[in-house]
Amino acid sequence: MRRKLAAGNWKMNGMAASLAEFDALAAAFPAPACDVLICPPATLIARMAARPGAAAIAIGGQDCHAIASGAHTGDISAAMLADAGASHVILGHSERRADHAETDAMVRAKTEAAHAAGLVAVVCVGETEAERDAGSTLAVIGGQLAGSLPDAATGATTVIAYEPVWAIGTGRTPTNDQIAEVHGFLRAELVARFGDEGDMFRLLYGGSVKPSNAAEIFAIPDVDGALVGGASLKAVDFGGIVTAL
Ligand code: PEP
Repeated sequence: MRRKLAAGNWKMNGMAASLAEFDALAAAFPAPACDVLICPPATLIARMAARPGAAAIAIGGQDCHAIASGAHTGDISAAMLADAGASHVILGHSERRADHAETDAMVRAKTEAAHAAGLVAVVCVGETEAERDAGSTLAVIGGQLAGSLPDAATGATTVIAYEPVWAIGTGRTPTNDQIAEVHGFLRAELVARFGDEGDMFRLLYGGSVKPSNAAEIFAIPDVDGALVGGASLKAVDFGGIVTAL
């Protein structure tokens, strides 16, 4: 049985005052029925990890470098994230792939680095609107999945997030059938590559999830939770999504 996961991606949002939202979320869910993860900007990880709520809510980074240390100004290694109190890291988010030209090979190397540092990698895949319109959604996602996951990935060390690029921050979501098609495809690809272990990977849906549509999305087969951007910034909104799981 895969435990559900509600993951929040704060992106480049959040100051010290925003820790009050984390505290409020933790107060609302002292013993959540699913796994709850917040990925704040790197500047807040250590301070968030020092809050009492970190006992029940996991904390993650939003990216890491592929190597452990060295002359890479401005970058953060997986070991540094772990040292700051993170247990997870989002990798290959479409904004990283677009803004920093991250390739599948780079995401795979980062995933290996995350695993070496003991972090759970939340690896993102997803098609653009042009790719969906061209009928290449599954080919694109299959290629990203194959190229971004190391052979040693397991369901314990790796979570997959399906995030259609056109649904991120737009208020648009795929139909339930479209989500079911992609998640079913991802599951089949994982089982084909990893055998029985392929059934252990959690598959998150991400893209304009909010309290009002969460329950419907979570009822779709092979949706094991959500990766949430905008609606993760306020405890009241994210709490509604956690409750729906
Ligand atoms: C995301 O960026 O991971 C995301 C899903 O964003 P939003 O929920 O705002 O669409």
